[in-house]
Amino acid sequence: MEKYTTQMDAARKGIITPEIEAVAKKEKRPVEQIMQLVSEGKIAIPANKKHHCLNPEGIGSMLKTKINVNLGISKDCKDYDLEMEKVMSAVNMGAEAIMDLSSHGNTQPFRQKLVNECPAMIGTVPVYDSVIHYQRDLATLTAKDFIDVIRLHAQDGVDFVTVHCGITKKTIEQIKKHKRKMNIVSRGGSLVFAWMSMTGNENPFYEYYDEILDICEEYDVTISLGDACRPGCLADASDVCQIEELVRLGELTKRAWDHNVQVMVEGPGHMPLDQIAANMKIQQTICMGAPFYVLGPLVTDIAPGYDHITAAIGGAVAAMSGAAFLCYVTPAEHLALPNLEDTKQGIIASKIAAHAADIAKGIPGARDQDDKMATARQKLDWNAQFACALDPQTAKAIRDSRLPEEDHSDTCSMCGKFCAVRSINKALAGDYIDIL
Ligand code: SF4
Repeated sequence: MEKYTTQMDAARKGIITPEIEAVAKKEKRPVEQIMQLVSEGKIAIPANKKHHCLNPEGIGSMLKTKINVNLGISKDCKDYDLEMEKVMSAVNMGAEAIMDLSSHGNTQPFRQKLVNECPAMIGTVPVYDSVIHYQRDLATLTAKDFIDVIRLHAQDGVDFVTVHCGITKKTIEQIKKHKRKMNIVSRGGSLVFAWMSMTGNENPFYEYYDEILDICEEYDVTISLGDACRPGCLADASDVCQIEELVRLGELTKRAWDHNVQVMVEGPGHMPLDQIAANMKIQQTICMGAPFYVLGPLVTDIAPGYDHITAAIGGAVAAMSGAAFLCYVTPAEHLALPNLEDTKQGIIASKIAAHAADIAKGIPGARDQDDKMATARQKLDWNAQFACALDPQTAKAIRDSRLPEEDHSDTCSMCGKFCAVRSINKALAGDYIDIL
C-alpha cells in the first residue's frame, strides 16, 4: 500500500519524497522548506509515477525560473527522429520541460518514447489529441471521450496536462458581447469553445473536473489550468474575459488542492510591458500563490520573426514579478512551424529571460556565473569566457571568425589595441601601453 498519492499529499503528511529531496538539493534550500511549500501548493513538482527517468524539478516563484519547450509531430513535420533530436538538444540547452503538442498520426509512440527517454518534465494538451486519437470530427466527440484521453496521457506517464477548464457557456456570451479584437487565440481553448458552440453543452473539462482530478491524483499528474482567454494582442490584454477566466481558475485551483492535486496556472499572452507586473500580482492573489506558467508575455504585436525577443522581454519582467515558469517562443511564432535553429533561438532567449529574472529575484547562486564571466573578461581570458557563456559555441564562433589582426590572445577586433580592458590592465600594472 502506497503511503501517499501525490507529491502534495506526501508533503502534507510530512513525508520527504525522493523528488522533494532532489528539488531541495538543486535549489540549495532546506528540504523542510520545499516540503512546506509543496504542501501549500506554492511549489509544484510535476512527477508522474510512471516517468521513471525523470530528473525532478520544482516550479514556484521563489525558485529558479524554469522554461518549457513545445515540440511534437504535426501534419507538416512527420519526422520523429528530427523531433527527438530537437527534444534532446532542448534538454542539453537547459530546458526543464518539454510539451508534446503532437497533432498528427498515432501520437502514443512518440509520447511513450519521450517518457521513456527524456529526463525533462513532459507536458501535453490532451484536447489536441482527442480528434486525432478517435479519428472523428470534433462535434461527434463526447465528454467521456475527452476525459478518456486525459486518462490515456496520465497512464503513458505525462507529468503535467494543460486542461482548459476555465471557460464556460457564460464565456461564450462574454466573447460575443465583449467584442475582443483577437477573440480566442489558445489552440486548446478554441477547440473547447468550438465543441461547446457546436454541441450546446457545457465545457466537459469544467463539468467533469472532479473526474479529471481523480485521474491526476492517481498518477500524480500536475494540472496546468489553461487560459483559453489569454489575450492574443495588446488591445485585449487585462480585459474582462481574461480576468473573469482567471477568477474561475482560482476556484479550480482550490478544488484541485482539496484533492491533493498539484496545480500550475497558465497566463498571458500578449501584454503591454507596464501591465505585466500587476497581472502577476493579481494571479498570485486570486490563485493563492499557485505557480504561474506564462506564454510570453509578448510585449508588442509588430515583431513577427523576432517574437523570441518580444517574449523574452515580457518573460523577464513576468518572472521577476512572480511568474515561475516560462514557455519559450521562437522566431517562427505566428509564422510557421519552428525548425531546429528556431528552437535553439527560442530556448536561448527564454534562458536569458529566466536567468535575468533569477538575478533580480535574488535566487541563491543565480549571479555566480555572471561574476565568473566578469573575472574572465577582466583577464581577457577567452576560454574562460566561453566556459561561462550560455551558448559557448556561438560565442566562440563569432570571435574566431573575426579575430584581431595582431596578438589574438589580447583584445578582440571590436576595439583592437584601443581595448579599454587591456589599457587599464597595463596602466594598473605600470606597463607601457602601445596603441599603434
Ligand atoms: S577590444 Fe573592446 S570589446 Fe573587445 S574585449 Fe577589449 S574592450 Fe571589450
